[in-house]
Amino acid sequence: MRLFTNAAEMRSVPRSAEFRNGGVSFWYREFGYPERRAALSETRDYDVCIVGGGYTGLWIAYYLQHADPGLRIALLEREFCGFGASGRNAGWLSAQFVGSRERYARMYSKGAAIALQRALMSTVDEVIKVAGNEGIDADIVKGGMRLVATNTAQRNRLYAEVGYLQEWGFWPEDLHLLDHTYTPRLRVAGAVAAARSPHAARFQPARLAVGLATVVEDLGVHIFEGSTVTEIRPADGGTRPSVVTDHGMVRADHVIQATEGYPVGARGQGREWRPARSSMIVTEPLANDLWDHIGWDGCDVLGDTAHASVQAQRTADGRIAIGGRDTPSRIGSAPEDRGATEPRTIADLWRALARMFPAAAEVPVAHAWSGVLGVARDGCPSVDLDRDTGVGWAGGYAGNGVTAANLAGRTLRDILLGHDTELTRLPWVGHRARAWQPEPWRRVGTQIVNGLYRTADRRESGRVTRTSRFAGLAARMAGWRITEPQPRARVPSGPDHPGSLGEAPPDTAQSE
Ligand SMILES: Cc1cc2nc3c(=O)[nH]c(=O)nc-3n(C[C@H](O)[C@H](O)[C@H](O)COP(=O)(O)OP(=O)(O)OC[C@H]3O[C@@H](n4cnc5c(N)ncnc54)[C@H](O)[C@@H]3O)c2cc1C
Repeated sequence: MRLFTNAAEMRSVPRSAEFRNGGVSFWYREFGYPERRAALSETRDYDVCIVGGGYTGLWIAYYLQHADPGLRIALLEREFCGFGASGRNAGWLSAQFVGSRERYARMYSKGAAIALQRALMSTVDEVIKVAGNEGIDADIVKGGMRLVATNTAQRNRLYAEVGYLQEWGFWPEDLHLLDHTYTPRLRVAGAVAAARSPHAARFQPARLAVGLATVVEDLGVHIFEGSTVTEIRPADGGTRPSVVTDHGMVRADHVIQATEGYPVGARGQGREWRPARSSMIVTEPLANDLWDHIGWDGCDVLGDTAHASVQAQRTADGRIAIGGRDTPSRIGSAPEDRGATEPRTIADLWRALARMFPAAAEVPVAHAWSGVLGVARDGCPSVDLDRDTGVGWAGGYAGNGVTAANLAGRTLRDILLGHDTELTRLPWVGHRARAWQPEPWRRVGTQIVNGLYRTADRRESGRVTRTSRFAGLAARMAGWRITEPQPRARVPSGPDHPGSLGEAPPDTAQSE
């Protein structure tokens, strides 16, 4: 039965003759897969050992080695650097917030939440600067971020959201509504409102990961690939922490876990971040007259304000790449590591693309892929070092990890060097979320919450003109607090996080 459903889903999607599903990501197909570095094959001593070769691990290595060239740093990666979400994402380098502003404000202060927002904005420029200085060609163009609303409920949310965010660190020049009384440059079908922020860039994810790994290695960091870490052993009494791989071992003064959506079995951290899947499709290049028709002549990244929202970019070679959060796979099914994506998800993403740009609906899809990211139970990421065990970590960015990974890298540099800085005082430092429920409850709960958000989207695209009560129910089920902020904008409600991949915690919701 499932086979028939899958075949029917795929029949609806125009695909090119060279269509591929999985194979890590289109970004590697375009750029080429990197040659693998040697694996760790013996026991070695280092000052710092980093587990995971995504942006988090690479940025930590980069900033730490720069700050202290004498440090002996090892980085262990199971496959190759950039194999995880860092080589598969939607290519949004944006200032999207990580976590819940209101939670940080309750725990620390509103100023602390605003400081994190401002730090994310400046981090967009920091990544662009370092890539430029280090000669990393990652197709980065800072064209800003555009969020569109395609129904009345979404428009009301967007209006409220802009007013709300302008009280939380996005000043009017950082985020504003676009005047929809005349035809917008970028024509999204059915758009009834849009907002824009200059703090975002489009980029090619694999190029950034591979380029950064080369720079880090040239700085003197020892990178071991094809090295699966099976255990992280915390310091115990007089012994230093250590990392066990399938072929060797590393002892170090500090071990940093940077594997986000991939659990490694470090003691005490097993259920802190839940792996969540996110998927992408990319089209064949669009003809110039089609681009003229769509009007997407800049490199602004594009998102919508649905609850199960999408993120899109115009690639350097003239394709549309679009992605969004996946529904969790069936209970008991193993996650697919090479990125093969469920036909239903591919069809959903293509439908989202066709809705936004009907004129591009016949452009064949060239590639589909997926990846995993990490989500904490309260939606808030964490950056920390446990000085007793010598083990540190960063992650749980819930789908907004590109910019956050750089900020986490600089923050862990300061923490490891024992410096008290503005970065080490940001509210995500030392944050601990409650553990997730054990399986199968976690997966069942996630499926229900995602289902409620999708129902809310369906109702809002019909007759419902305010945020559907199903979205409020989903937020309550997920354990996220429903609050009633007092935004200055015209409509008094909106989620905390509109352009995210759909699962960041709404601090606000309004029923029908
Ligand atoms: C499809 C998709 C689209 C996304 N789009 C965006 C976006 O546009 N903008 C944005 O801000 N965020 C986006 N994200 C999220 C973002 O990509 C991630 O949050 C970020 O890349 C995380 O980086 P990381 O280094 O912490 O983890 P990863 O990049 O996942 O790296 C972890 C690494 O650890 C390695 N590893 C795992 N287990 C072991 C082990 N046992 N031993 C050794 N190594 C191990 C993995 O192979 C992997 O290379 C997206 C994510 C996905 C999946």
